[in-house]
Amino acid sequence: MNFELGKLVRPNIWALEPYSCARDEFKGMQAHVFLDANENPYNDPLNRYPDPLQEKLKERLAPFKHVCPSQMFLGNGSDEAIDLVYRIFCNPGIDNVVAIAPTYGMYKVCADINEVEYRSVPLNDEWQLDPKTLLSAADINTKVIWICSPNNPTGNDMSREAIHEVLTKFEGIVVIDEAYSDFSTQKPFRDILDNYPNLIVLNTFSKAWASAAIRLGMAFASEEIIGLFNKVKYPYNVNLLTQEKALAVLDDFMHVEGWLTQIKREREHVLPALQELPIVLKVFPTDANFVLVRVTDANRIYRYLIEQGIVVRNRHRVQLCQDCLRITIGTRQENNELLGAMRFFK
Ligand SMILES: *Cc1c(COP(=O)(O)O)cnc(C)c1O
Repeated sequence: MNFELGKLVRPNIWALEPYSCARDEFKGMQAHVFLDANENPYNDPLNRYPDPLQEKLKERLAPFKHVCPSQMFLGNGSDEAIDLVYRIFCNPGIDNVVAIAPTYGMYKVCADINEVEYRSVPLNDEWQLDPKTLLSAADINTKVIWICSPNNPTGNDMSREAIHEVLTKFEGIVVIDEAYSDFSTQKPFRDILDNYPNLIVLNTFSKAWASAAIRLGMAFASEEIIGLFNKVKYPYNVNLLTQEKALAVLDDFMHVEGWLTQIKREREHVLPALQELPIVLKVFPTDANFVLVRVTDANRIYRYLIEQGIVVRNRHRVQLCQDCLRITIGTRQENNELLGAMRFFK
């Protein structure tokens, strides 16, 4: 493959001289008097700007993710990484991106915000992507292909072979959003980052790591691509409280593992129970912590569930998802409440 990063990046970003913050300029040496950043000397530790590159957290994350700290970007949720991909690679009004459909809504929203054409290619009857169709939607101005696996809202893993084909044949950036990969048995593409100079993998603390409130997303890519993320991001994009809470979560990863096991076990309980309900026409196979179901009347069932105090996601208006609800796997009690309510729907 003919991959040249410099040709893909927006010229203004390639040439950008990034903001140099006080914490960047002073590094390494020991000091005990900090008079460089116009901080207030009182209210330790909140008075100090946090580490702009979150080095301690990246060091701790590295063994979990099998990725070097220099191949990691941390941001204010995955959403920051998604937006940065557009701002780094896509010239507004000129470039375009290609994505599967249906998929996670933020790829399109960020494209619209950045004035980038968004081309969506429908998945097949098995919710799989056809690499040939996806690649044929791309042209000379296509900078990025978005793949979500396991995919939201369909729940299933994209075929590994299909993703491989896209990765090897497309000469632009391929983003694989693995927000749900901890719930899947498929090996994450994060593990083979070094094989693909054009690959960006997204992960998040919001799902398996049970920390949506702290807003922490991750992007993994070559050191060169991560350098671009660091150049464009806000200097202190991840605050101290988030960095500290993330370290605490990593210290307690046995707990997270326990939750994961529990959720996967619950999934085995919920899927067949849903399948038996007369109002459920189809339960789509899932590799995530949610399941897409086709029901007799999504709008009415959605409203009925709300009346029972139960909120699911109505995907009826999403392309190819007519009469579909997306249901998160909860605790045993929550799941039983949902199943009970659905059983009584008239
Ligand atoms: C939930 C989700 C995310 C996580 O987004 P955050 O901004 O990190 O909370 C990313 N991608 C997909 C596909 C998701 O469903």
